[in-house]
Amino acid sequence: MDTDPVIGIDLGTTNSAAAFLGLNGPEIIPNAVGGRLTPSIVGVDESGTVVVGAAAKELQVLHPDRCANLFKRYMGTDHTLTVAGRTYTPEELSGLILRAIKADAAAFFKRPITRAVITVPAYFNDRQRKATIAAGRIAGLTVERILNEPTAAAIAYGFHESGEDKKVLIFDLGGGTFDVSVVELFEGTLEVKSSSGESALGGEDFTRAMVARILETRGLAYERAEVRTPKLVSRLLQQCERAKCLLSREESVKVRIPDDDGEFTASATELQVTREQLERWVTPILARIELPIRRVLGDAKLTKDQLDEVILVGGVTRMPLIIRRVTELLGKDPRRRLNPDEVVALGAAVQAALVGKSAAVEDLVVTDVAPFTLGIEISKQFGNDRRDGYFDPLIDRNTTIPVSRVKRYSTLSPNQTAIIVHIYQGESRKVGENLALGEFEVKGIPPGPAGQPVDIRFTYDLNGVLEVEATVVATRKTVTHVIAKHAKGMTEDQIQRAVRAMEKLKTHPRDEEANRFVLLRAERVFKELPAELRQSLGLLLDGFEAALESRNKDTITRHREELERFLTLFDPSADDPNRETE
Ligand code: ADP
Ligand code: MG
Repeated sequence: MDTDPVIGIDLGTTNSAAAFLGLNGPEIIPNAVGGRLTPSIVGVDESGTVVVGAAAKELQVLHPDRCANLFKRYMGTDHTLTVAGRTYTPEELSGLILRAIKADAAAFFKRPITRAVITVPAYFNDRQRKATIAAGRIAGLTVERILNEPTAAAIAYGFHESGEDKKVLIFDLGGGTFDVSVVELFEGTLEVKSSSGESALGGEDFTRAMVARILETRGLAYERAEVRTPKLVSRLLQQCERAKCLLSREESVKVRIPDDDGEFTASATELQVTREQLERWVTPILARIELPIRRVLGDAKLTKDQLDEVILVGGVTRMPLIIRRVTELLGKDPRRRLNPDEVVALGAAVQAALVGKSAAVEDLVVTDVAPFTLGIEISKQFGNDRRDGYFDPLIDRNTTIPVSRVKRYSTLSPNQTAIIVHIYQGESRKVGENLALGEFEVKGIPPGPAGQPVDIRFTYDLNGVLEVEATVVATRKTVTHVIAKHAKGMTEDQIQRAVRAMEKLKTHPRDEEANRFVLLRAERVFKELPAELRQSLGLLLDGFEAALESRNKDTITRHREELERFLTLFDPSADDPNRETE
């Protein structure tokens, strides 16, 4: 009797991927539009239909308000996200991604897929792991195992079968997070000995730095431009994201600069950016990888010379600069035979096959770390503007607990005698996107000029209890506020309710995904083209929409292919910067 295949899934913050164990080792399962990675983005298009992955990424360029991303950061919390007027839990959004992946795998194997191994970061706590299992259940998947991402990377490189004991450092730089772990193979068991990182450090920061420097050449400051010309900034972010990836294999690329409304008008300018420039721009950000590396080695009680191997994970490690830096810092050539943004899914696929044969590799994790960044709201000064709503972290995600940190703040106005401390957890720069944990008032600040100091101390213990203490420096008076926030995992009832709610959502049948994707992409490209080309694209789009109405499969395919040919020629983002070049 043949049992159902078990697939491996990397449910990532930026991108997700699925894989299975083939005859020649693990292989990626392509998605509905032929891609190897599925962007972890969920959107709702104009017809009120849910779109995920590549189509949602296209939708996000023009309608960011109709899309949700980065929801992995909220797994295991009460934080919900609103997309086009409806509220979703992070489990539901992850469930929608998993459901699309399940459908892609079923189409690939031509049989239903119901079982999976899903990976999570090593620092995920019990609640976050349960939330991941719930997301799988919502998608109709039985989650056979939860596997730590660094362990999955080690498995993908075959360390579990090496026979000898080994110590491996996994360096994972993704879209928005940096995770570094030491994994040890000991008597056939893979154990995450220590894990560290930075919750807000990743490829997005590199893209933002690039945008900031380009804006600078036009005399604009990023923070200001974000407020005054948000469309210019969001379009430029999209342009630079792509340019940044291209610069991993090209020495120099052109970046098109839209006008203040984010439009590429006839007068749109182009700027040549070289790899060397990009490297110079991101070097200050890259300095932040050093401390976590030192910490992870310290926590594992190892020196870098005691490491047997270093593995690169995460799309950003395709950058030659990162490979050089890691080699310098650790004194070893890192392993990078496998695509860094696929390696976790590949390892999950190997584990999945072993689960199918009841021979899974034991995977342990021993670290106790703060699962989220904790901090307070502050305001920032930009020229003459003072703006509220910024998040100032006191305890970084991934900090080993118990931990206590203190930071000095000061009053903003003359004769201010009280402040309200707003406490948040989360990974965003803006408190609006983080989870409010509570607030309290500190009174009795002596009247005087602005700038009266107040010390805020955060203490986080092993039970997840957060104690916030504010001390008015002048009087030594202290106020203490305790938060023991225990968001419960989803109950069986809640999961079943979510399953029914998901069934009611309007979605496109899988074989229409490619049509949706091309349609949304064409609409984006339309806005980027000069008038003469817009006309031709407009005609093709009209033809395609009419074809979709006709519901005739051949007509639809013919029109879609025509449209795709046009896009290949005129979409400035047509070719994949990470396409395999053999
Ligand atoms: P995550 O683990 O966060 O889901 P990935 O490992 O897929 O994400 O990494 C996504 C990040 O990698 C993005 O910031 C993307 O810009 C970056 N990236 C992908 N390919 C390249 C490349 N060729 N050069 C530089 N950065 C890249
Ligand atoms: Mg990842």
